Amino acid sequence: MSNSLLTVAYIAASVLFIFSLGGLSNQETARQGNIYGICGMLIAFIATALNYQFTGYFTLIGAIAPAVMIGAVLASRVAMTSMPELVAILHSFVGLAAVLVGIANYLAPDPNIVGVEETIHQIEIYVGVFIGAVTFTGSIVAFGKLRAIISSKPLMLPARHLLNISLLVATVLLGIQFMQAPDLQGLQPLLIMSAIAGLLGLHLVAAIGGADMPVVISMLNSYSGWAAAAAGFMLSNDLLIVVGALVGSSGAILSFIMCKAMNRSFFSVILGGFGEGSSKTATKAETPTGTVTATTAEEVADLLMDAQSVIIAPGYGMAVAQAQHAVSDITKLLRSRKIKVRFGIHPVAGRLPGHMNVLLAEANVPYDIVLEMDEINEDFPETDVVLVIGANDTVNPSALEDPSCAIAGMPVLEVWKAHNVIVMKRSMASGYAGVENPLFFKENTQMLFGDAKKNVDAILTHLREKESSTYSEKILVKAS
Ligand code: NDP
Repeated sequence: MSNSLLTVAYIAASVLFIFSLGGLSNQETARQGNIYGICGMLIAFIATALNYQFTGYFTLIGAIAPAVMIGAVLASRVAMTSMPELVAILHSFVGLAAVLVGIANYLAPDPNIVGVEETIHQIEIYVGVFIGAVTFTGSIVAFGKLRAIISSKPLMLPARHLLNISLLVATVLLGIQFMQAPDLQGLQPLLIMSAIAGLLGLHLVAAIGGADMPVVISMLNSYSGWAAAAAGFMLSNDLLIVVGALVGSSGAILSFIMCKAMNRSFFSVILGGFGEGSSKTATKAETPTGTVTATTAEEVADLLMDAQSVIIAPGYGMAVAQAQHAVSDITKLLRSRKIKVRFGIHPVAGRLPGHMNVLLAEANVPYDIVLEMDEINEDFPETDVVLVIGANDTVNPSALEDPSCAIAGMPVLEVWKAHNVIVMKRSMASGYAGVENPLFFKENTQMLFGDAKKNVDAILTHLREKESSTYSEKILVKAS
């Protein structure tokens, strides 16, 4: 493939990636956005492989074939609830790739790059390896936290900020040594810096508490983009630079949006909780006390039949139970009885940005009744019944009432303001952030214990029975 054709292919792929991002910003166009992304990636891959400078087809096929198979099998088997872990581990691969590309690039310098260009190239390598190493280890810790292999509690080392600053200073000093080293003697400082950057990534993410994990995921997404862009600079590959910058900047915007939604300082979170008092990270908030009222699926069905307006607040438990289809059926049934049903979606509900929206779209819930937290929060006082399905942190009043808890200051769905609140979960256990939830003890709250899918199915069965008995009664009345 000639150079000009390669450029055209790269431009086409870049445009498709931009369309893809545009499409993904809206549920109705998300599927199309995905297709644009797949087409862009195919063009990018084929164009790069057919580049006239490229000859190593044997190595390429040897690397790509097993990778494609492993990737396809893993991605098709992964449960929706494990998606965030998969994303986190994939980010770590991008980071590792940037480190390896950087080191390989340093060991096999291009003889045509000399003078100022060489200096710039060395900076690219150093910065690229640094970002890559931070992304690599940070993503592994994020994977461990999301998979619950590592505790989601923040690691609070006594002089943690001093440790981070020392690691950064060491990185800069090693960078100077690297830039001044003749021939390939910069390898040693480069490798030492990789280890230090790896330690920094590990510590930065370990210091972030469970409640702030959504920001970490989008932040690592952003880092992986910048790592790819850095690899693009090292390899002088324009497409990689463009794609890396797109991923890097969109990830940074997403992190910013997440921070706003959670009322967190962007810089504080990305710097591993810098500037946060120890109180916010302590999860030993006051233990709520009071009486817990348990209910049954039949009683909930009765309550729903008598309601005029219902809001459903789904959370991670709905994803675990895979209850979305049954929830969609309940919604259809209630709406057919002219009951106003809407969904209130918290920006960090579930374990992925947009997790609940994806599940509800999969279950064909109409988009126009799925509302963001800000759009629905004022409507709770006029709502008859709220069904909290597997949500916990995102409906926890402590966020607003207890300044010492881990989620203090995070806006939540104010479900307790409704006339009746039904909380569906299996036990009294706390949510991902480990904060006790006083909602369960409120006078207007009733707990429907058990697996969300089983309970939602049971409610649906009772609703159908009640509906058919009402129908029979109507026929009898008409006949008489
Ligand atoms: P939470 O994680 O706070 O709570 C989920 C609840 O679901 C648990 O308390 C659990 O209680 C219940 N549950 C689990 N399985 C089932 C089941 N089969 N049936 C019924 N209930 C079940 O969920 P939220 O969605 O409210 O909050 C999300 C949390 O995750 C936030 O803290 C957020 O910061 C964090 N997070 C979000 C990310 C994102 O990008 N959205 C990424 C990473 C973290 P029980 O065990 O008693 O059943």
